[in-house]
Amino acid sequence: MKAEPGILQRINLLSGTGRLPVALCLLSVLISVLITNCTKEEPFRETMFLMGTLVEIAAYPDNQEVRDAVALAFRRMEMVEDLAAADEKDSPFGLLRKGEDADLSPEMLQVLTVALEVAGNSSGAFDPTMGELVDLWGFERGEHSVPGSLRISEAMESMGYERLSMNGTRVEVSGQGVWLELGGVAKGYAVDEAVRILKAAGVRAGIVNAGGDLRAFGTKPGGKPWRIGVQDPDNPQGLLGVLSLEDASVATSGDYERYFEIDNVRYHHILDPDTGRPSRSGIRSTTIIAPECVLADALATAVFVMDIDRGRELLDMNKDVGGIWVNGDKRILTSPGIGTVVEFEKR
Ligand code: ADP
Ligand code: MG
Repeated sequence: MKAEPGILQRINLLSGTGRLPVALCLLSVLISVLITNCTKEEPFRETMFLMGTLVEIAAYPDNQEVRDAVALAFRRMEMVEDLAAADEKDSPFGLLRKGEDADLSPEMLQVLTVALEVAGNSSGAFDPTMGELVDLWGFERGEHSVPGSLRISEAMESMGYERLSMNGTRVEVSGQGVWLELGGVAKGYAVDEAVRILKAAGVRAGIVNAGGDLRAFGTKPGGKPWRIGVQDPDNPQGLLGVLSLEDASVATSGDYERYFEIDNVRYHHILDPDTGRPSRSGIRSTTIIAPECVLADALATAVFVMDIDRGRELLDMNKDVGGIWVNGDKRILTSPGIGTVVEFEKR
């Protein structure tokens, strides 16, 4: 199936085997152009490679103030990227790894608060303390081998979101050190921050799209909603469904983003904290719609690991949140409340 005009898809440049697929880059540009052509008034568009993906901001109207606001929004996203990756000894990451409590920056406080909330509500399917395990699997470095069981068990010893607790602006750790890993939530927060900057600068409407983790705000000229495609996991140009939204965020986790295959087994980058290995829920992708992208991002990762019934219960805890699963047969399943959160049509 081919991408249709006016529908934005998830484009993740670290997809597949980790190489940068130039074809996806071109497709992204093509889709952008198609969106632009749907409206008379064109937005200002800018792209930047950040957080392992191509980030695009489109904002209305195209004038100098909006261009300056977009530049500021990108600068803010770069800052968030640095914070989420900061690994120096005296950073919260370094202190927590040594088993010491840490004072958090306002940004880290917000990200970790959401991460721990989703960790608790998902009974640890989402766990922001998987740093050692994530490092061991090496998806970020493009490694393509399965670690031994002993090394996996060792890496799992430093895990445990329950050992972290928030006390004002401080995070306290009990027992031995933990390795924080915010890769499953930081991109969403960066998107929220970019939108906050754009709105504060008076930008009328826009969308910030970090490889499919995105947030749209305001009304486009002509009053048409933003249309977002749910991607076929086996075909980056194919759509399994289309969302129409105005002020909302969408985040997707999928088994096709970063993976390698050995003997027909796919090893993808979303790990089950119970096994220390890529989750085997049989789900191909999860797409979450929420007011804030940070929440959508964390929930997409959590629900990807959980079985569908438990995932539905998790999403039902929040009336502003909807979810879409693509299962092993590429069938679409939705959360009960999806219709009240967003307009969704299957393809
Ligand atoms: P992406 O950021 O690639 O779009 P996700 O939002 O699903 O995809 O996040 C995946 C990243 O989150 C992994 O690369 C890893 O850093 C981290 N991660 C993997 N499994 C989990 C998990 N169960 N809980 C929390 N974080 C995870
Ligand atoms: Mg996520």
